[in-house]
Amino acid sequence: MEIIIGRQGTQKTPITDPTVSRRHCKVTVNGDGSYTLENLSQSGTIVNGNPIIRATVGPDTRIQLGQSYSATLGELIGLSATKSSHQTSATPSSSVPAGASGGQQSASPKTYSITHLQHVWNDFNNTNLEMENTQRRTNLVRAGLGIFTMCAMPLCYFFGPVGYVLTAVGILGNIYSFVGIKNAETAEERQSRRDAFDDAWICPNPECGHSLMAKNYRMLVRNHQSCPYCKCKYIEK
Ligand SMILES: [Zn+2]
Repeated sequence: MEIIIGRQGTQKTPITDPTVSRRHCKVTVNGDGSYTLENLSQSGTIVNGNPIIRATVGPDTRIQLGQSYSATLGELIGLSATKSSHQTSATPSSSVPAGASGGQQSASPKTYSITHLQHVWNDFNNTNLEMENTQRRTNLVRAGLGIFTMCAMPLCYFFGPVGYVLTAVGILGNIYSFVGIKNAETAEERQSRRDAFDDAWICPNPECGHSLMAKNYRMLVRNHQSCPYCKCKYIEK
């Protein structure tokens, strides 16, 4: 049995923490009653202080998701915390694929193109940069206009009409920059953009679909030429 844990997961305890992904990690209940935890999110799944790709866990294992959410496996999937014999032995991320390829000994690994992932990454990254720039520009304009208006106001007292005109210009500028804030991204928009990226930033093998560990396209090309889960080969075409 498999349980997806996340804001839109199938786990028992609902999660609303916005730093947790919609599909954050996956718990597999193994035949022998042990549990395998697999990370599916760019935000990472942490067990015993270590980010994991895949780990064997027990009901009492504390799992940290996103920036601040944490719960034991038992709490998440609705088990009573027992001192079972399958107690926490989180295998660190390096020992990845314990039986990942499901025993099928296919002669040569399949090959999948990762070219489309370049667009996925570029779109995501360019929007991030654009949003950062918009934010920086808005902050600058707002700070400048604030100072301008503050200086213009006392001029009303000394120079009458000239002061009024300058103050009006300052106030209009403030209103204009306030409207400009609308162009910035809201927290919800950013989250759904990240979720969309998480959903697309996956192994190109349709039978695998695991979240990619590479943090950007260049890293994917340089360091991750094959999938740690399904063993398929990544190529650029
Ligand atoms: Zn794969």
